[in-house]
Amino acid sequence: MLNLLIFGAPGSGKGTQSKFIAEHFGIKHISTGDLLRKEVSTNSELGHEIESLISEGHLVPDEMILEILFHQVNQIEDFKGVILDGFPRTLVQAESLIKEFDKRKWSVPLLVVLEVPEEELMTRLLERGKVSGRSDDNEETIRRRFQVYRNQSEPIVSYYKENNLPYASINGLGTIQEITDRLIQGITHHITKV
Ligand code: AMP
Repeated sequence: MLNLLIFGAPGSGKGTQSKFIAEHFGIKHISTGDLLRKEVSTNSELGHEIESLISEGHLVPDEMILEILFHQVNQIEDFKGVILDGFPRTLVQAESLIKEFDKRKWSVPLLVVLEVPEEELMTRLLERGKVSGRSDDNEETIRRRFQVYRNQSEPIVSYYKENNLPYASINGLGTIQEITDRLIQGITHHITKV
């Protein structure tokens, strides 16, 4: 079983890389951002609530995302592992995840952090905004998302380190292929170590 959390600031390449990693290791890919955008596209009341949070660069509440995520996780048949993309984003989410995995006797997910400097992230996200149609890919919202990442999400890295949980830091600069190769190498190194 291989469980991974692909972690990093907005624009660090989590979505792009997750797809390659999931395919390479034969595990399921779940993106909480995609799940939320799917709900938004249904035009439901919940979708409207979610859209206003996303477009302002805020996180959706922990209880809501935990319910959405575990609903999805529980549907995986013949569980071989999963790569979670965009989750966890708060300490509460990280702690709940580890508790739930432990309850199911699943291995503790490896935290894979994609490291990219903020100036590069801003350039990437503004470029993406020209074609993505995402309401949160504009400069003001991007700045808020960086702030939310630093304040609410980054403490997860310290939590992992302090509790001696499995962690890998990967340089997220270069071509898509170079980064994929580095990720596969880092993850494989972890698998052979345990
Ligand atoms: P992403 O596609 O991962 O960049 O996520 C887009 C937006 O969805 C984020 O800026 C948040 O508003 C929301 N979101 C995605 N994942 C989470 C999560 N784990 N917790 C709270 N909000 C989330």
